[in-house]
Amino acid sequence: MNSQNPTFDLLCRNHVGLDAFSTYEIGGEARHLALPHTLEELKIVLEGAKTKGLNPFLFGMGSNTLFPDRPDEDMLFFSLKEHIEFKLLPGRLFVSGGTPMTLLALFGLYTGISSFDFMFLLPGTLGAGVYMNAKYFSHQVSDVLETAYVIDKEHPEQGIIPVPLAGCEYGYKTSIFMRKPWIVVGADLKLPVDPKLTPDETEALFAKLQAKNLPSSMLPDYYRHYAGELNIAAKQGFEVRQELLDVIADRGGKLHFDYPSCGSVFKNNYTIGEPMGKLVDRLGLRGTVRGGAMISDHHGNIIQNRGGAKASDVTDLVKLVQEKVEAEFGFVPEPELVIV
Ligand SMILES: Cc1cc2nc3c(=O)[nH]c(=O)nc-3n(C[C@H](O)[C@H](O)[C@H](O)COP(=O)(O)OP(=O)(O)OC[C@H]3O[C@@H](n4cnc5c(N)ncnc54)[C@H](O)[C@@H]3O)c2cc1C
Repeated sequence: MNSQNPTFDLLCRNHVGLDAFSTYEIGGEARHLALPHTLEELKIVLEGAKTKGLNPFLFGMGSNTLFPDRPDEDMLFFSLKEHIEFKLLPGRLFVSGGTPMTLLALFGLYTGISSFDFMFLLPGTLGAGVYMNAKYFSHQVSDVLETAYVIDKEHPEQGIIPVPLAGCEYGYKTSIFMRKPWIVVGADLKLPVDPKLTPDETEALFAKLQAKNLPSSMLPDYYRHYAGELNIAAKQGFEVRQELLDVIADRGGKLHFDYPSCGSVFKNNYTIGEPMGKLVDRLGLRGTVRGGAMISDHHGNIIQNRGGAKASDVTDLVKLVQEKVEAEFGFVPEPELVIV
């Protein structure tokens, strides 16, 4: 936004297809959409929504969100994905909520810090990762978070509120952020060792990593862009840890980036003793098709858009799995996917 005095009307785009903002590549036309670049712009967007009686819906990269086929006219969709900031502080790194999580893994690659490796190729923004405690095998966002910073959607005039780790009420893919009208605008992340960079060098490194146009929400672009970063680092003589290569092998093996999807649809129910993918397999539901959507034939907990899927095709499959799992295993699986 070049204008020195951005207004709500300048910040807000009209009649924009939401399919371009979701890794599902599904979603009808939003009447109102805003991508604020700064916290000042975010404030203008929130105040404008209030004045105009719009219902704001926050998203990041749309990698865990199923947008509706026909969004309500009075909804304002807004994402912080254009707000990217980082600052090296003593013993910690401040990162804004719109920053792609995978950038942190790349920061770790260039600085020898391995604690962000689990975020490599984990689609999505840090704000959403903090919100839902994004997890990869035994590592999760709560392991690296020191303090989250939020703005209350309903009371932006209160400014930025710090939420220390102890106040985040983290559990398995759950947090206080899911129960409050809060926007995660940034977080201080723990640095287990000194990255041996000055704050200016850190800023330059992140600027270099994100300068090449952030990929869209299309998964093949996302994968190509960030997997390619490993080759660039290797050519410059940086050691690419085996953990990062293992992520490529694991996610590639599960065809994570071959078809539009939002990754796992359901949370695991640990009292059952088997992950959701296995339960869906046991029910013989892999490969089930509704319209353009299909339960992956490689992984039972992923529903893919195999071409022209509608949100209703995905929700039909969600309901089918819930009904069959309840009938066979006695519980209704809880979606991890945010269905708008
Ligand atoms: C191929 C693939 C693989 C995946 N693998 C994993 C995995 O291994 N582990 C895992 O945990 N997830 C995984 N996911 C899901 C997804 O990557 C995570 O849920 C991620 O945290 C979503 O980030 P996002 O920015 O895309 O969120 P969005 O989908 O845009 O939003 C998701 C939710 O977060 C909320 N939100 C977004 N930004 C903020 C913010 N700044 N403050 C507060 N709330 C916010 C939204 O309101 C919404 O409710 C995968 C997805 C895909 C497509």
